[in-house]
Amino acid sequence: MRFEIVTIFPGFFASIFDNGILRRALAEELVTVGVHDLRAFTHDRHRTVDDRPFGGGEGMVLKPEPLAEVLASLGIAPKAERQEGPQAAESIPSEGGGGFNPRIKPQSIGALAPEGSSLQESSFAPRPRVILLSAQGRPFTQALARELAAEERVVLVCGRYEGVDERINQLYCDMELSIGDYVLSGGELAAAVVIDATMRLLPGVLGNEASSEFESFGVADAEIAVAEDGVPRSQHGAGGLLDYPHYTRPAEFGGLRVPETLLNGDHSEIRRWRREQQLRKTLANRPDLLEGATLSKEDRRLLEAIRDETE
Ligand code: SAM
Repeated sequence: MRFEIVTIFPGFFASIFDNGILRRALAEELVTVGVHDLRAFTHDRHRTVDDRPFGGGEGMVLKPEPLAEVLASLGIAPKAERQEGPQAAESIPSEGGGGFNPRIKPQSIGALAPEGSSLQESSFAPRPRVILLSAQGRPFTQALARELAAEERVVLVCGRYEGVDERINQLYCDMELSIGDYVLSGGELAAAVVIDATMRLLPGVLGNEASSEFESFGVADAEIAVAEDGVPRSQHGAGGLLDYPHYTRPAEFGGLRVPETLLNGDHSEIRRWRREQQLRKTLANRPDLLEGATLSKEDRRLLEAIRDETE
């Protein structure tokens, strides 16, 4: 899978790509990332990427021309043309209308190449999913991360200032995406969040293939619901719920002892305890998730009991 990031701050991503799972995934080329400096697609002395908003008001807006140029350099045509052809790279935007010259040759891009990563120029362009990071976007969720992980190529356009000229959204972007109900100063943090959450779902990125499936927000799957005898089949299994609490050594810390159930080696008991903890946490912190979760009769009984306790 390949990510393309369009940004005015390419240096932002250096440390993000240089640590942990993402660093390893890049080094092993399980994922590749291109970071494209928007300012490299300006043509004036000051490398201007922004301008004042029509209609007045606060702040500046990212101009459409450099954005259209960087996208063209990545082989990305406007949506209308993309839908016609089998591959974005084969479709060249037609001349005129947009106030920029769309017949731009792919340029040498301002790709940031942190050590150990494999950033390449975009000579090959599988059909892309173009995403505008925006506080006004569709909420980013684990389900959406799973959806993106199935894509070959995702382009992330990072806004700054008051945002991006809306025509870029209309002409090029398949989706506006928000990482939460708050306003960041730029799309770079959001892009990093999207890349991190998505790439860890790619085959081979996590040591244990199953582990992402069984984390918080895991697929609400009947496989991991509680079986007839009241014991969940899976040792883990978030199944649309939040994860259960985790403990490691020492068994006693800060006056708190690890729950006895986790120490006694009875795996049925452990599974039952973990399922109950998932239900407790979800009910306390994210009761909205219970609606979409796969709940067994035993789960519902437990939930009732937990609700009774707290009343
Ligand atoms: N005027 C915009 C609004 O009120 O929605 C906020 C613009 S914000 C200061 C600048 C840029 O940060 C946005 O264009 C977007 O790319 C990014 N951004 C801000 N909040 C975001 C969020 N919650 N999710 C994703 N991107 C965000």
